[in-house]
Amino acid sequence: VFREPENEPLLGYAPGTPEKRSLKAALAKVRSEVPEIPLIIGGREYGSEEKGRVVMPHDHGHILATHCKASPEDVERAVKEAARAKKEWENTPWTERAAVMLKIAELFTTEYRDLLLASTMLGQSKNVFQAQIDAVAEAADFIRFNVAYASSIYAEQPRLDRDSLNRMEYRPLEGFVFAVTPFNFTAIASNLVLAPVLMGNTVLWKPAGTSLLSSYYLMKIYEKAGLPAGVVNFLPGSGEMISQVVTKHPDLAGIHFTGSTDVFSKLWMQCAENLRNYRSFPRLVGETGGKNFLVVHPSADVDAAVTAMVRGAFEYQGQKCSAVSRCYIPKSLREKILSLAGRMIADMKTGSPEDFRNFINAVIDEASFDNCMKYISAARTSTEADILFGGRGDKSAGYFVEPTVIETTDPEFVTMREEIFGPVLTLYTYEDDRFGEILELCDRSSPYGLTGAVFAADRKALALAARKLKYAAGNFYVNDKPTGAVVGKQPFGGSRASGTNDKAGSRLNLLRWTSPLTVKENLR
Ligand code: GLU
Repeated sequence: VFREPENEPLLGYAPGTPEKRSLKAALAKVRSEVPEIPLIIGGREYGSEEKGRVVMPHDHGHILATHCKASPEDVERAVKEAARAKKEWENTPWTERAAVMLKIAELFTTEYRDLLLASTMLGQSKNVFQAQIDAVAEAADFIRFNVAYASSIYAEQPRLDRDSLNRMEYRPLEGFVFAVTPFNFTAIASNLVLAPVLMGNTVLWKPAGTSLLSSYYLMKIYEKAGLPAGVVNFLPGSGEMISQVVTKHPDLAGIHFTGSTDVFSKLWMQCAENLRNYRSFPRLVGETGGKNFLVVHPSADVDAAVTAMVRGAFEYQGQKCSAVSRCYIPKSLREKILSLAGRMIADMKTGSPEDFRNFINAVIDEASFDNCMKYISAARTSTEADILFGGRGDKSAGYFVEPTVIETTDPEFVTMREEIFGPVLTLYTYEDDRFGEILELCDRSSPYGLTGAVFAADRKALALAARKLKYAAGNFYVNDKPTGAVVGKQPFGGSRASGTNDKAGSRLNLLRWTSPLTVKENLR
């Protein structure tokens, strides 16, 4: 019944097009309204005494929304509502659950397309192209592909024989799932919640504080599509407090997480501390940080490598877990690479996402701005590093950091090892005949294993890279940039300090949200 879907097509948003006119109107509307974002628990809205604010990163004096904050009692209430809703939801035929999901995907791409785009562009400072591939295309693709994968899971049954009737019942997990979602992708915020929901689970959702506007609209779309009350419970507020309460609860059955390695590690340790209290071992599924590499071989196509390097490092201000952040380039190509990169960077316009010509927008908040500047100044004051391009920041009106390229003579300089999560790229130049050694160095000099790319025309060099970097990335790109994985084509995730590698948008991921029951009926 459910065939492999097509990826959602992209619109052009060129000047004068109807899609651009209607998006402009939505941007003006989202800019001028200041909604109060409530908690949504069991289908009901709740307020709170204390409130927070959602601002535009590129114009932080402008408040887009205020939001309520969950209390420990709200979290307890959400656990109860999730349990109540689960009784029906898990017994709803999966095809009916899938129909609600597909309705959500339809709303993402039609009626609510502009609202999702506008709230992602203004709330998360994303240009129109980046917003479109995220909040519309990837968000819908996750749903449609997951429905197709689920249909293959539910259809997979053990053998029967003359004496026994055997079957697998793909139960959801027993308890609730806790989804902790990041600011950088509206699609990920949606998928971390909806993948367990499709498999019959109910969810407590802690959205990132800096992307609450688009998360709130996702929640409204789920309601509009007919998702029953309590299946998803929306809990803005303090991540630390909510996690404390949630991980103490005996019914915690799983965590679906994207965010920092640090926070995921803490959740894991909190679960370990509470392990004896749980009914089941919780399923911990997380996608965390990265220190993604791009290795250029002397035989590489320089134009292609530099385009990948610049786009991979600076699209969405480097705030993708997959962003390129360390490059190894051969001495023989250094001059050419630098002059091409310099030209490309000079051509990238910076400013508000409301002006569609801007490629670079603001980083998400002040902490992120300060963190980028800290690494840039470490490079500025070091005798082992130089700043080749960019290096300045201005947070007076918006959190703007220039696309910055650092060059270091120490392949293990701090900016070659630590995740920065901003528009800061570091280059190291190697002697052409040391390619093999560089691969080994690349493999061992960061704790992460998310994405990476190798550029070479020489097939032997590519084979060597694939062998030496086998565990250095979960998504490995040959002659292409390591960002922008497409659902259904490049299932996404990494291992080492980058997560549990349960590939977002895959059968593998959906299986984590089921606890199958095997039944044998004796026919003799
Ligand atoms: N899937 C995204 C990509 O391939 C990155 C996801 C993330 O930042 O977590 O670029």
